[in-house]
Amino acid sequence: MNLADLTLELTPFATDEFPKPAPGGRYDLAIIGGGPAGLTAAIYAARKRLKTLVAAENIGGQMLWTSSVENYPGFNVVQARDLVDKFRSQVRQFPVDVASGLQVAAVSAEGPGFRLEGSGGEAFTARSLIVATGKRYRSLGVPGEKELIGKGVAYCATCDAPLFAGKTVAVVGGGNSALTAANELLPYASKIHLINSSPAVTGDPVLLEPLKGSGKVDFHMRSKVSEILGKERVEGLAVNSPGGVVRLDVSGVFVEIGLIPNSGPVKGLVELNREGEIIVDCSCRTSRPGLFAAGDVTTVPAKQIVVAAGEGAKAALAAYDWLLANPG
Ligand SMILES: Cc1cc2nc3c(=O)[nH]c(=O)nc-3n(C[C@H](O)[C@H](O)[C@H](O)COP(=O)(O)OP(=O)(O)OC[C@H]3O[C@@H](n4cnc5c(N)ncnc54)[C@H](O)[C@@H]3O)c2cc1C
Repeated sequence: MNLADLTLELTPFATDEFPKPAPGGRYDLAIIGGGPAGLTAAIYAARKRLKTLVAAENIGGQMLWTSSVENYPGFNVVQARDLVDKFRSQVRQFPVDVASGLQVAAVSAEGPGFRLEGSGGEAFTARSLIVATGKRYRSLGVPGEKELIGKGVAYCATCDAPLFAGKTVAVVGGGNSALTAANELLPYASKIHLINSSPAVTGDPVLLEPLKGSGKVDFHMRSKVSEILGKERVEGLAVNSPGGVVRLDVSGVFVEIGLIPNSGPVKGLVELNREGEIIVDCSCRTSRPGLFAAGDVTTVPAKQIVVAAGEGAKAALAAYDWLLANPG
């Protein structure tokens, strides 16, 4: 089995057992997103007897990208996959339509409500909408990156670190995501180059110390990857460093330079901040009546599972109140 096959096998995209709702359905409430915000919103909406659709590329969201969770109340430690299963099975208790594996490409205002269009042309309409689309990994945007995704270019160390046993790899970034990724790689990789454009890492000392103590990590500060090299798979990196352009021979590169909000489908419909997050008030209301947002895609601080779940609950209750005040 080659590296690309293994990557596909380990990269988490949920397969799940929700029956597919028929396209063309009309709903009281549509929720875009199957992470903790969207799934919690679905539970609250269903308990209010709203006819509800969840449209989500996957069930679990970012929880699929990590292994264990130590800060979700009620559990000392829970495996992220188990937590996803618990969210999923709770949603399944209710008559909620779940279109999983569906990417919403566009949302438009239609009559008194909203029209959702899937990337495969599926369409649904709803009187109200909750956007809970979370975040995705930011890419470097350098030559070779797109071409070599799954062939040594990776964004999720939790998912893909074991593929690099005994190999030299690079981690790009200097915040907590990068340091966490490097720590996840420590038991596997023979050597790690940490490449950071700033003069110093900004992540927590508690994450930095094991890297410094390992003797396996070379730190390249004030350095930027300009190209990912390789034809069939990653063979190296061209790095602009203070001493000039250097080539690093690596078999893998983990891009850990942060996350960007998935607000694309509602761009132009609601106000966003400079980072592209949907601006919400304390009741998850956006600048457009009837359109609510919850979780990591919003301006709410503290991007955490418990916060996203709480915001999902608030958004569903706010949507319910809005529907009562605006009967269709
Ligand atoms: C590596 C890692 C480790 C983490 N560890 C922890 C931890 O230990 N504890 C903690 O509390 N938090 C942790 N977090 C943060 C936590 O996972 C997030 O804060 C949380 O998942 C956000 O939930 P959300 O529902 O807002 O968004 P997400 O979890 O990002 O879910 C978004 C959902 O929207 C879907 N979606 C996006 N765009 C579309 C579209 N156009 N059409 C249809 N569906 C779409 C996605 O498929 C997904 O289902 C971690 C995050 C990462 C990346």
